[in-house]
Amino acid sequence: MAQSPIVRPIVIAHRGASGYLPEHTLAAKALAFGQRADFLEQDVVITQDNQPIVLHDIHLDTVTDVVQRFPNRKRSDGRFYAIDFTLAEIQSLAVHERIDLKTGKAVFPHRFPTTPTSLRIPTLGEEIEFIQGLNRSSGRDVGIYPEIKAPAWHRREGKDATAIVLRTLEQYGYQDRTSNAYLQCFDFDECKRIRFELKSPLKLVQLLSHDDIDLSQTENQLKQIAAYADGIGPPLSLLAHLKDKTVTITNLVESANTCGLVVHPYTIRQDALPDFANDLQHLHEIVFRQAGAHGAFSDFPDLTVQFLQAK
Ligand code: CA
Repeated sequence: MAQSPIVRPIVIAHRGASGYLPEHTLAAKALAFGQRADFLEQDVVITQDNQPIVLHDIHLDTVTDVVQRFPNRKRSDGRFYAIDFTLAEIQSLAVHERIDLKTGKAVFPHRFPTTPTSLRIPTLGEEIEFIQGLNRSSGRDVGIYPEIKAPAWHRREGKDATAIVLRTLEQYGYQDRTSNAYLQCFDFDECKRIRFELKSPLKLVQLLSHDDIDLSQTENQLKQIAAYADGIGPPLSLLAHLKDKTVTITNLVESANTCGLVVHPYTIRQDALPDFANDLQHLHEIVFRQAGAHGAFSDFPDLTVQFLQAK
């Protein structure tokens, strides 16, 4: 039997090198690029004037100074929604490290300070141009990994987020299976729509929450996903867990391999380890060596790349 070539697992910079710089800023993407991540992740939401921007939440208040700048623009729930602001307004905001709205304190206390910076929220197009520019100047081919955020919510607000994202990707040359891109989404119906209705040929990853998979039915469930997707993005908790104080690997990657799906779990963070890992080295060993994931989202792409290159 012919031996398949050994391909190193890929490193996806989760919101950029977000362990070091405010998430989803071009600075965080440049750092991740320099740290030799294979893919840079974009989360995409839509503005009032239909522009796709790179932002994790549908809200602006956890990562910008919107509360101080536009105090009267909150909805009745007290939140500030990107969809209620124009791109010009959004790009006038200063980005800062993520805070917990309840306490006003940093979500990750040892990361970048939470004071406002000179960094701004980029559009998806601006970010792609930035990455393609770096690819050109460095002679590398780093991929993009856009996630369509809350498509059902966007639709209720009158926006077809997926159509806008696909149009932008096509404009920048990401339009077939060989494109160096993965599209990702948590919404099962939207993933099927992307494949069957919108007929996107791009590589597609079905993101999963812990409760989406019943580990006694894994293979059946993954077979259904393999009908439209190329891979799954599970939380680390679906790869391994503690049983009688021992790390136990689940059947997820094995079943995915049977179904022909790649597995890119989220999220490797040295400052927020899952309960089954003693330290970052241990987590890397579990994810890549024991569970056999084909890649992973990491807030610390330098450390994940270092682990994979050392082996
Ligand atoms: Ca994401």
